[in-house]
Amino acid sequence: MQSHTGWREVPCVECGAFVEGIAFVQRCAACQERRTARAARIARWAALAGTLVMAAWVYSRGPASSLMQWTAVAALPLTYVLIRSIALRVAMEVLP
Ligand SMILES: [Zn+2]
Repeated sequence: MQSHTGWREVPCVECGAFVEGIAFVQRCAACQERRTARAARIARWAALAGTLVMAAWVYSRGPASSLMQWTAVAALPLTYVLIRSIALRVAMEVLP
């Protein structure tokens, strides 16, 4: 039986292995998993660096009030999550 693309097996665009169930210019499951893991690693480091920069900025400014200090501290995990999700998306688009 042919796949939805009309071909039984199509070569993976990255490793060249013939795989059933993918379309042309798509990656096999192993290549896609490896690419996703690499993008996640890059996103994790970018988020850590961005969060450290923000923490240094918050620390250098000094607390104007207790509420502002706690707000800044609460914003740090949010910064990490936002930068990580944006960096993951960008890395998945940019990585070869
Ligand atoms: Zn592959």
